[in-house]
Amino acid sequence: MGKFIAFIMLLALIATPIGTLYFLSSHTKLAFAPQPKAIGASTPVTVHFANPHGLRHFTAFIEQNGASTLITETKSPADRLRFWLAQVPDQDIHFSAGSKQAPNLKEGKARIIVAAQSNDLRGFTDTISTEVDVVLRPPSVVADGFQHYINQGGSEMVLFTPSGYWTEAGVRVSHDTYSSFPIGGGAQRLALFAYPWDMPIDTAPVVFARNSAGTEATARFWFKVFPKKFRRRDLAIDDKFLDKVVNQIDPSGSGHLLTRFLKINGEMRRANNKTLADLRLKTAEKFLWTEPFLQLANSKVESEFADVRSYIYKGKKVDQQVHLGFDLAVTAHAAVVAANDGKVIWAAPLGIYGNCIVVDHGYGLQSIYGHLSALAVKEGDVVKRGQEMGKSGSTGLAGGDHLHYSMQVGGVEVNPVEWWDAHWIKDHVRDRFKQQ
Ligand SMILES: [Zn+2]
Repeated sequence: MGKFIAFIMLLALIATPIGTLYFLSSHTKLAFAPQPKAIGASTPVTVHFANPHGLRHFTAFIEQNGASTLITETKSPADRLRFWLAQVPDQDIHFSAGSKQAPNLKEGKARIIVAAQSNDLRGFTDTISTEVDVVLRPPSVVADGFQHYINQGGSEMVLFTPSGYWTEAGVRVSHDTYSSFPIGGGAQRLALFAYPWDMPIDTAPVVFARNSAGTEATARFWFKVFPKKFRRRDLAIDDKFLDKVVNQIDPSGSGHLLTRFLKINGEMRRANNKTLADLRLKTAEKFLWTEPFLQLANSKVESEFADVRSYIYKGKKVDQQVHLGFDLAVTAHAAVVAANDGKVIWAAPLGIYGNCIVVDHGYGLQSIYGHLSALAVKEGDVVKRGQEMGKSGSTGLAGGDHLHYSMQVGGVEVNPVEWWDAHWIKDHVRDRFKQQ
């Protein structure tokens, strides 16, 4: 009897951990990131998986007309018992899907099927699948037939239709590319682009469509660039100004005031402008506005777009920067309103811009408000045209109380005057939707 109890206890000692492992075995959460819609010669596909025990076996197949082709497979050594030690973080698995991996693939519909087996005792297999269009023709692109009159330093909109197998389509101006967005539910797309203030005026913007295999098509469209003269301004700076701005922006710094100022005016300005440019990705895939943009009411223009500023200290030029916005002064702590309907994507200090707000208006068009003394909105807020968002001030690189107002298209700063102008908006944006 004693022996029997001992045997039962021994059995329990062995069985309990295995039973526990049995019940601890987990499923794999799988998701396409993002969901592929079309594949071509060799299209990158990413699958996100979450399984604390990791994967023992991962496969992806393409299925078309009843035929199934293995396109990727990874195996890990089986780990049936020790997996409770494992805490495998979520991971992305990358592979390519297309006619290169499945040579018999034809144009039409196909299905990508992904299976993942958990690396634990029971080794559950989970699968996901998605239907894709197989497009093997190379990309091609056709632009609209409008006359594109472009102001140097300004913005422009083009409509175009890419076809064939493409994964990226937009506008290119010299080395800058601008994203495009679908409109109207068809194949047609819209792109806003900037013609930077310092772009040589013989630069031809083109629409492009290219695919992940590296094949690209471009098309020109009719355009004419109007050159603009930009002002050159001397800006005298003294120790009082340096002391105020340098110690406010960089309170813990040390060294000569002028040296610290030059670093802020150069390095920090570039870093802040990069932060602003990166916000282009936080944009709505539609226009969030209908009326022209508002210029701050009753304001005096102290600086214009693309003023080339020479900084004069003790009679000597010590720096030069380009001012890519408008400085608008009313009275101290004047109400700063949203120039148009949109969504707040930044409401926080930003280096030389002090307390700063950025509002997204859709399709990569965004307005920027700097040097505020108070913020009355937060990131994520939806704002209406004319809604108060804060008070003007002199935070950041500002001598006196004013609003620094600027706008960007695809992360490139543009002259706001066009967006303040109802006629310009009618000719360059509104009428083009009607004529489609
Ligand atoms: Zn300014």
